Amino acid sequence: MPLLLGCVADDFTGATDLASMLVKNGMTCVQVIGVPTGPLPEADAIVVALKSRTAPVAQAVAESVAAAEALLVAGAQQLFFKYCSTFDSTDEGNIGPVADALLKRLGAGFAIACPAFPANGRSIYQGHLFVGAHLLSESGMENHPLTPMKDSDLVRVLSRQTDGAVGLVPFAVVEQGAAAIRREMTKLAEGGRRYAILDAVSDAHLHAIGEACANHALITGGSGVAMGLPGNFRAAGLLAERSDAAALPQAEGLCAVVAGSCSRATLGQIGFARDHVPVLELDALATPDARALAQQALAWMDGKLSAERPVVIAASAPPERVAALQQKLGRDAAGLLVEEALAAVAAELVARGVTRLVVAGGETSGAVVQRLGVTSLRIGAEIDPGVPWTFAESRAAAGAAPAGIHLALKSGNFGARDFFLKAFGP
Ligand code: ADP
Repeated sequence: MPLLLGCVADDFTGATDLASMLVKNGMTCVQVIGVPTGPLPEADAIVVALKSRTAPVAQAVAESVAAAEALLVAGAQQLFFKYCSTFDSTDEGNIGPVADALLKRLGAGFAIACPAFPANGRSIYQGHLFVGAHLLSESGMENHPLTPMKDSDLVRVLSRQTDGAVGLVPFAVVEQGAAAIRREMTKLAEGGRRYAILDAVSDAHLHAIGEACANHALITGGSGVAMGLPGNFRAAGLLAERSDAAALPQAEGLCAVVAGSCSRATLGQIGFARDHVPVLELDALATPDARALAQQALAWMDGKLSAERPVVIAASAPPERVAALQQKLGRDAAGLLVEEALAAVAAELVARGVTRLVVAGGETSGAVVQRLGVTSLRIGAEIDPGVPWTFAESRAAAGAAPAGIHLALKSGNFGARDFFLKAFGP
């Protein structure tokens, strides 16, 4: 099974988002964590998850090109550079510089830049990005601490990040479908443009754009525009019709949830779980010591682990208690302390035979994945939108049988109230 689509994503949850989109549209997909060092797993698509969104430009470029190199060596026929659907970047980068470097590596002169994802409220009209009913620059993103987006005109935004010229394929053309989009892109490329922003306000637009880019060496955008790409590979006879793209090895064994997210959604999910399964709520304010917190969890879990229902171990707390711990230790130290405790708890759960683990919280997931030595995640079916079950392979388990565990990494705000039970349901 040859690799078809090689993707480089500029952050971890964005990578999962893209991988899930590809699986839903019929490609098998593995998410690899960090620049690949060894041989790549077998899949129709591979998404390399980097943390390059806010890294220094030179580092983001170097890592992205190294990831692309590994994907090309593995046979990737097309590269996809995935960034956020709100085009998170600054005038320095990293979208422009990374795209420039990838185009150069591929010897290509033109690529699209399309972060639109109408189903999630991200639409582009006349080159302006909207978040729901608001311009990007009035969506709250203008106040982002790292990548404030104060300009909604993506032609202008991208122009500031590259020495290449940026054009627009406007709504009136996109509306006419793939052939018209292709003609317009050819015109732009012949007119010396290196990039095109494309208007898109519906999934039909994204499908047409995807189809028009079938022969492009590089596609850049959000996960929305990837929905049209599996169809291209099928049309070219390279990808079989699959109904089993989301198939993972059989999930059985002990189950658990570790929660470090303090988002409203996660707090609600913990509240719901409390009425149905054993829940331990660690109090980091009373015990501001990672090792002692982990010890409390280990003592508590004794005799409670089951294959029928999860145990939930949470450090999550309401805003006033989080603020109190942050005041005591400083914000970063408070976060790290809890992440360290939960990573230790996750490692112990796995050591005691847990093979199905849900982790709530983006940073918390990062800490757990690192502690477990997970190197790649095969993407399965979604539990709730944006949160798939995955099958994790780790350095520790490499070659061992049975290798890996099932992991669901839930970004804080995702998931319905019953998520922690639903994840382990039939
Ligand atoms: P989300 O996806 O909701 O943003 P994250 O895991 O990314 O969740 O971030 C939550 C952060 O809050 C983590 O760094 C975690 O360690 C920290 N945290 C969790 N519980 C507490 C607590 N009780 N007090 C202070 N910080 C906490």
